[in-house]
Amino acid sequence: MLVLHVLGTSGSRPTRGRSVPGNYLSTPSGGIVIDCGEGFQERLLKHDLALKATGTNKRARASKIRVILLTHSHLDHCWGLLPFLYTMDLDGRTAPLTIIAPTASERAPARSDFAGLFESWRDLLAGELSRGGLGFPVEWVLIPVDGEEPIEPPVQPLEGVHLTAVPTRHGVVSVAWMVSTPQRSGRFDRDRAASLGLADHQVSLLAAGESIIHDGAELDPADFRAERRPPCRLLVSGDTTRGVASFNQESLGGPVDLLIHEATYTNEYHDKSEAYGHSTAVDAAAAASVMGAKVLGMVHLSTRISDCAILESEAREIHPSSFVCEDGDIIEISLDGAIDVSRRRENVWMPLSIE
Ligand SMILES: [Zn+2]
Repeated sequence: MLVLHVLGTSGSRPTRGRSVPGNYLSTPSGGIVIDCGEGFQERLLKHDLALKATGTNKRARASKIRVILLTHSHLDHCWGLLPFLYTMDLDGRTAPLTIIAPTASERAPARSDFAGLFESWRDLLAGELSRGGLGFPVEWVLIPVDGEEPIEPPVQPLEGVHLTAVPTRHGVVSVAWMVSTPQRSGRFDRDRAASLGLADHQVSLLAAGESIIHDGAELDPADFRAERRPPCRLLVSGDTTRGVASFNQESLGGPVDLLIHEATYTNEYHDKSEAYGHSTAVDAAAAASVMGAKVLGMVHLSTRISDCAILESEAREIHPSSFVCEDGDIIEISLDGAIDVSRRRENVWMPLSIE
C-alpha cells in the first residue's frame, strides 16, 4: 500500500489555508518526501501529531524518511530542506538518508542548479554544525537530465519500491517523480482451500507456494491464486506546462493509479500558462487521461484561484475522477489499486467522495 500525505497545495507562495509544495509518501519500505518547500518540517510535524491523536496507524513520521526526492530547484519546492536536515540532526537521527534531484549538467553548473545548491548546502551544514557535519550519512544524488525519456536514478534506496524521474517542461531543469511497487501475486483463495477440508499446515504450504498431496492428488499452489495484481504506481508532476513527452502509458510502462499534477490556472489562462511554465486544470486532466490515471489530484494553485470548483469542473469534463487537493489530504492506494481519499475536518479525517 502507498499512502500519500499532501502537505502543500499552493503555488509559488502560500495562501490562506494552503502552503508551498511538499508531500510525504508512506511505502512498505519507508517514507519518501517529494518536494520540501519552506516550512515543510513544521507542517509534517503538526500533521503527524494530529494523526497520532486520532489513534490511527497511518502516520507520517519524520524518523521513517529514507529518501527525499526534489522535482526542481525553485525555492517553493526545496527551500525547506536545509532546516529539515538540521532538525533531524538535533533529533539524533543516525539512519542514512538519500536525496535525489535533477541537474542540467554536471559541468559548470549554474548557481541555481542542484549541482551548485548541493555543494553550497553541504558547506553550510558543515559550518552550522559544530562537529563539522550531520550526525547521519546523506547520499546526495544528482541525475543529469538530457532529453525527455524517463530516467532511472543510479540508486534505488528502498527495497521493493521503484523510483523513476520523468523530465517535465518548466523554466529550469525539472522532473516528475513516479513511485511504483512491484507486481504482486494474486489473492490466495482460502475458501477453496477450506472447501477441500485441508489442514491448517497444508493451507500454509499452499499459500507459501508449495505443492501438497491431498487424497492422493497433487495440488498446485497456482490453482489457489487469483491473477497477479498490477503494480501500485503514483506520479507527482512537480511544476510543468502541458506537452510533456513521456506523460503517456507507453513511455511510463503502463497506467498510473494516482496522478498528482499541478493546476496553477483555470482555462482562462490557457495561452499564458505555457509561457509561465505551468498548467491549467484542463492540461492536468489531459495528462491524467493519457496516463490512464484512476484519480487526478490537482495542486499548486495560483493565488488567482478564488473558487476551486471551477478547476474541478474544467478537469472533470476530460477526466471525471479529478479533485483539487487540500493541505492535509491523505490518499491511499491499496494493493488491489483501489484509491481512497480522506480530508481533515477539525481533528478527524473524513472520507472524501471525488465522483
Ligand atoms: Zn517552479
